[in-house]
Amino acid sequence: MRQLKVAGHGGRKKTTFKRYFPIAVILAAIVLGLSLSGYLIVKDNYNPSDLADESAPLLDWVEYVVESGDTLEAILIKSGVDPDQGYKLIDSLGKFWDFTKIRPGHLIEFGFDERAGLLEFVYTASPVDIFQARLVDDTYEIEQLAVKIEKRPAKIQFRLENSIYGDLVSIGELPVLVEKIVDILAWDIDFFSDPREGDLVTLSVNKKYVEGKLYDYGRITALEYNGKIVKQSAFYFEFKEGEGGYFDQTGKSLARNFLKTPVKFTRISSKFGMRKHPVTHQLKHHYGTDYAAPVGTPVWAMAGGTVARKAYDKYGGNMIVLKHSKGYETYYLHLSKFAPHLKPGIRVRQKEVIGYVGTTGRSTGPHLHLSIKHHGKHVDPLKMNKVKEITLAGELLEKFTKAYRSHHSANFGL
Ligand SMILES: [Zn+2]
Repeated sequence: MRQLKVAGHGGRKKTTFKRYFPIAVILAAIVLGLSLSGYLIVKDNYNPSDLADESAPLLDWVEYVVESGDTLEAILIKSGVDPDQGYKLIDSLGKFWDFTKIRPGHLIEFGFDERAGLLEFVYTASPVDIFQARLVDDTYEIEQLAVKIEKRPAKIQFRLENSIYGDLVSIGELPVLVEKIVDILAWDIDFFSDPREGDLVTLSVNKKYVEGKLYDYGRITALEYNGKIVKQSAFYFEFKEGEGGYFDQTGKSLARNFLKTPVKFTRISSKFGMRKHPVTHQLKHHYGTDYAAPVGTPVWAMAGGTVARKAYDKYGGNMIVLKHSKGYETYYLHLSKFAPHLKPGIRVRQKEVIGYVGTTGRSTGPHLHLSIKHHGKHVDPLKMNKVKEITLAGELLEKFTKAYRSHHSANFGL
């Protein structure tokens, strides 16, 4: 009896009521004329048979917003769902929705009927991930509601004034856009220390809307960071069928063998310009570079490689050693936590989160200590030559230059 269908955006009456109000008034008049005890639910894809069904019960709707630490089971119990029905619901839903993906802020709506118990259940994980369960003949039938996503190309430009998160949100953008920017510039900009007030950021991106509301972005196609310390241009280019990356105006990839910094700039990283520049130092037990960052800041693998060591050390605290190609090794010290999946022997990608900044071992405050060795000898992470992965040439470079110029003259006025 289980089924997964793509259905119309039905049953979501609250948010769309206004839009359909005039129709609703007319329909309500008809319905009231037919049956005074009738009721009306306005649906996006109005189906006349809904109105004919006078036996459909009026549901009592209860909303629940997922809190941290919640499990679906616990939520069902808390919300007064009959245990037997709760079990059936989890069983049906679990067939295609992974409930370990349950996150704080997700919305759950319960439609209770006095006699039948939980008759309807709507789980909204995001504006485009909405699941609806309906009790039919003692089983829950599941539908994923089809949502129309509208994409609009946009040029976004802003100056850094306070924090990159705050500056973007103040012009109506979503924080997720910062992650996309940081991700593209991870080889060139240390967002803890390089940005300055007045730096100008310009980018082209598709904005995604659901019911007129911005909810996400597509891939950033072009990005210009024009700063006092760093200037960087990034343009997305497919150099092979289905394979692409970001290149600067000369056709060199932004991607290099090593990232600029092992600490990932996130929302908890506070204002820019407040952090000290990374410091290179040489002590008896301690050679490398210190990156000051709040406890819990994610730590990136500087390059792809294999986990050689994951251990606690009297000096280094919680530490990770990665082995890379061409005789390189990277050391990450004083971590508060390791990434849960991390084990010696496993492969990690460049920019994969391997742990979190802390102050374990011999450490005076929250920071990440990074050491890089090449064939057993220390190299300075701040001064080492980091090799570009790809340089476009020949016909590819011509194609790239043409695409870059036509985009920039049309969008960036250059
Ligand atoms: Zn250090």
